[in-house]
Amino acid sequence: MASLNNADAPKWVAIIGAGVTGLLIAQGLLKNGFQVTVYERDPSLEFRDNRPVSFMIHWGFETLSELLPADLWADIHTTFCNPASRDAKESEGIKFYNGHSGDLLFQAPPTVIKRVTRQKLRKHAAKGVDIRWSVTFDDLKVQDDGVKITFKDGSETTADFVIGADGPRSKVRQLLLGEEKSQLTKSDFVCGYTSAVLGQEKAETILKAHPVWAMVYHSMGVLAIGAEDAVNPDDISTWIFNITRIWRGESPRQEGPDAVKTMKDITETFSEPFKSIVQGLPEDTPAFVRSLYYWRPVQWPNFDGKITIAGDAAHPMLPFRGQGLNNALDDAVKIVRALVEVSTGKAELKEAIDKYDADVVERGARAVDIAVNEGKLVQDMDRLTEMVVAKKGVGKP
Ligand SMILES: Cc1cc2nc3c(=O)[nH]c(=O)nc-3n(C[C@H](O)[C@H](O)[C@H](O)COP(=O)(O)OP(=O)(O)OC[C@H]3O[C@@H](n4cnc5c(N)ncnc54)[C@H](O)[C@@H]3O)c2cc1C
Repeated sequence: MASLNNADAPKWVAIIGAGVTGLLIAQGLLKNGFQVTVYERDPSLEFRDNRPVSFMIHWGFETLSELLPADLWADIHTTFCNPASRDAKESEGIKFYNGHSGDLLFQAPPTVIKRVTRQKLRKHAAKGVDIRWSVTFDDLKVQDDGVKITFKDGSETTADFVIGADGPRSKVRQLLLGEEKSQLTKSDFVCGYTSAVLGQEKAETILKAHPVWAMVYHSMGVLAIGAEDAVNPDDISTWIFNITRIWRGESPRQEGPDAVKTMKDITETFSEPFKSIVQGLPEDTPAFVRSLYYWRPVQWPNFDGKITIAGDAAHPMLPFRGQGLNNALDDAVKIVRALVEVSTGKAELKEAIDKYDADVVERGARAVDIAVNEGKLVQDMDRLTEMVVAKKGVGKP
């Protein structure tokens, strides 16, 4: 563990939001001798367990070794969806299928791909972190002695440095930039999300399509499928599989049977074997349907380097290339490095945070723009090969 030796450097860091971004920044800072508290509006880590979410980590994977302490890094495989990814240095490149014919359209080059569940990664990254639950961040004020933060229940605290990792509807971003500049843009895409045990035959079909994650393109949008939880690793009939559908359109927010019905209706015209995977979903499968939003980052004021934002708070994007969390991991490792540089006297606080902010805005805006453009191409079967994901897969743009 590095020790802090610059008397003027921030020592006590408050992080708003115990999502993956906030928790991994906390781990990286703790590893380097900072004092950290994470403030989360949910009452517990288990609060959203009935809403399984998983994501692919690819170009951001190695940053986890820098952020996590050695014991948690050694056990990172316990968060993987498919245990077969454990020792694989590279995964077979993502496969993209034609949803009208069922044929393979193209395959991305092999790359590091680890699919993890949000719940497992959060529980892993929460180990040893001081988290205050059920506190909703509400306001902040920069003072001579630090940044005073106030919560909805009226409680308050003052930290040397504040990081907003409070997700796509970030209150920290809103306070820094004002309502108008921080406003999310509603895309014309809707996402249906579910996971279920599908039995031996469908499990074999999905794992044959790709061991980690397969994408199916159709003029009615994208179907993405892959293993989510190997309940009994030796028996794939017990495995839980994730099914994500994204299509252009409007839909109210839906949960449970309504969401399952919508996902089935919208996948009616897909070819086999993909159609049956969705049509076979049990009605009581946990599922939800949501409109998708994004925000193109612009520079926020950082008050002489005392406040910043990271992860979806800084660059919520459309999920066509699975880049949001990978950029969040890049943010996490870079904010930790910036604060370590300050604490070891290698940089002034303002200089280090200005540099961090500029990188997040530039990189985030590029990723947001690419994702919006992928959305323009994704339902045009004649233009799919123009997509960045078709040319470069899920790696760095
Ligand atoms: C369908 C879909 C698929 C995706 N697939 C991928 C993928 O394959 N690869 C990839 O890299 N990315 C993917 N992403 C993006 C990825 O999910 C996000 O980038 C990532 O989860 C962001 O994490 P976060 O911690 O920044 O935000 P969040 O997970 O939103 O966490 C924010 C936390 O802050 C808390 N919070 C919010 N407001 C307050 C407040 N006022 N006070 C206190 N706490 C607060 C919330 O409760 C939450 O716990 C996908 C996204 C979608 C929608």
